[in-house]
Amino acid sequence: MADPKGFLTTGREVAKTRPAGERVKDWNEVYVPGSLLPIISKQAGRCMDCGIPFCHNGCPLGNLIPEWNDYAYREDWAAASERLHATNNFPEFTGRLCPAPCESACVLGINQPAVTIKNVEVSIIDKAWGNGDVTPQPPERLSGKTVAVIGSGPAGLAAAQQLTRAGHTVAVYERADRIGGLLRYGIPEFKMEKVHINRRIEQMRAEGTKFRTEVEIGRDIDAAKLRRRYDAVVIAAGATVSRDLPVPGRELNGIHFAMEYLPLANKVQEGDLTVSPITAEGKHVVVIGGGDTGADCVGTAHRQGAASVTQLEIMPKPGEDRNANQPWPTFPMLYKVTSAHEEGGERVYSVSTTHFEGDEDGNVQFLHLVEVEFKDGKLEQKPGTERKIPAQLVTLAMGFTGTDQQNGLVQQFGLELDARGNIARDGQYATNVDGVFVAGDAGRGQSLIVWAIAEGRSAARGVDRFLTGTSELPAPVKPTDRALTV
Ligand SMILES: Cc1cc2nc3c(=O)[nH]c(=O)nc-3n(C[C@H](O)[C@H](O)[C@H](O)COP(=O)(O)OP(=O)(O)OC[C@H]3O[C@@H](n4cnc5c(N)ncnc54)[C@H](O)[C@@H]3O)c2cc1C
Ligand code: SF4
Repeated sequence: MADPKGFLTTGREVAKTRPAGERVKDWNEVYVPGSLLPIISKQAGRCMDCGIPFCHNGCPLGNLIPEWNDYAYREDWAAASERLHATNNFPEFTGRLCPAPCESACVLGINQPAVTIKNVEVSIIDKAWGNGDVTPQPPERLSGKTVAVIGSGPAGLAAAQQLTRAGHTVAVYERADRIGGLLRYGIPEFKMEKVHINRRIEQMRAEGTKFRTEVEIGRDIDAAKLRRRYDAVVIAAGATVSRDLPVPGRELNGIHFAMEYLPLANKVQEGDLTVSPITAEGKHVVVIGGGDTGADCVGTAHRQGAASVTQLEIMPKPGEDRNANQPWPTFPMLYKVTSAHEEGGERVYSVSTTHFEGDEDGNVQFLHLVEVEFKDGKLEQKPGTERKIPAQLVTLAMGFTGTDQQNGLVQQFGLELDARGNIARDGQYATNVDGVFVAGDAGRGQSLIVWAIAEGRSAARGVDRFLTGTSELPAPVKPTDRALTV
């Protein structure tokens, strides 16, 4: 156990963020560099090392949280890193981006603020990189088997790293010009600087994983041919079809899906563009959708110099405390103030967009909305509440509906889809096509990085068993798992 009295003597303290006015002038991560290290050992010391650590179940990866809290408390960073990597290939991603369902399941959280598990995680991995403790782990022997991974998001990278380390020869195919999936083109730099992806890729290359960018399987290489070329295939192609808003005026200029807007801002940070072709500069911006993708649009618009930013959400404002149907240790839907919201803008709840209004040049100028309320379980418009707000750039961040591979991979492999439009798989992550597996958002639907890594690891075990008849690789989750979490 870390500090037996830690939870009694130390209060919860989290990573400090830079002042909002300062950080919107740049794209660096929002945190004060180095602010965690002086406090993190004492924070780790708040862990009670519970007999039944519910945080293990809260985390889809089954991270061994009390074990690495103990090492972090003792400042044995090398041992902490070893325990962390035992269950998580990329803690620098989850330590920055995970909504931390583990903390919702922390036993201390029943009547006190939970342990800052996510902050401990990121401190351990940042220290490990700084100390040179993260080194390539190439396999001792090669199996002679080959695997193609389609997609280089967290699911594809986790599957590739596990399979490479198990001795298989793995090539990752990515249609974008850089590796990383939504970590690279989607999630803004201010949430995670891309240096963290780059150094992991260097580690993976040194272990033997091969990367092929700007190759779209299903277009540049026929999917069935790829299957013949490799002993097994893992599809980790994400779920990238954005939900649309088919209301009058949707065709006006200046209305974009979030995933048309955000990757261009990423490209500016990569140095590919000097200015984004879709910029918020000087514009009244409306973001439709109250979730994390919407928050990323809010933070990006502020950094581009928007005149105003309004985020609309059709659902009512969530409460600040758990309600009776979301008891501990489940992951509750609570009102969240992300770093992007701290930086300004207005959030409007219980409203629905009725139509857009444009100028004579076809550019959007106003968004018309109406207040809505639930009546008998149905969402109804409140008469007399219609109004319009200025909107010169609108981003649609209302979620994703499934894979965009219907005419490519799905057709060429002959894959079956499930009722939700995702690629169907069995308990081993195998699709209906022999030797073809699926992991991450492509099978689960748009989810979280922690689930993508957990699925990538689990699918790797299914592939390893398919190739060799047995496997010692771990499988933290089943395709149907929802655990205690989101
Ligand atoms: C804007 C945004 C912000 C988010 N923020 C968070 C967050 O803060 N925390 C969190 O936990 N989750 C977040 N998520 C969700 C998270 O990013 C995803 O759940 C996760 O990235 C899914 O991983 P994946 O590997 O399954 O797919 P993806 O990351 O989507 O990667 C799939 C990759 O496959 C490639 N690909 C597709 N088809 C082909 C093909 N035919 N050939 C070759 N390559 C192909 C794509 O180009 C892509 O690079 C966010 C999502 C979005 C959109
Ligand atoms: S990956 Fe997420 S859920 Fe798991 S320990 Fe880290 S922050 Fe918690």
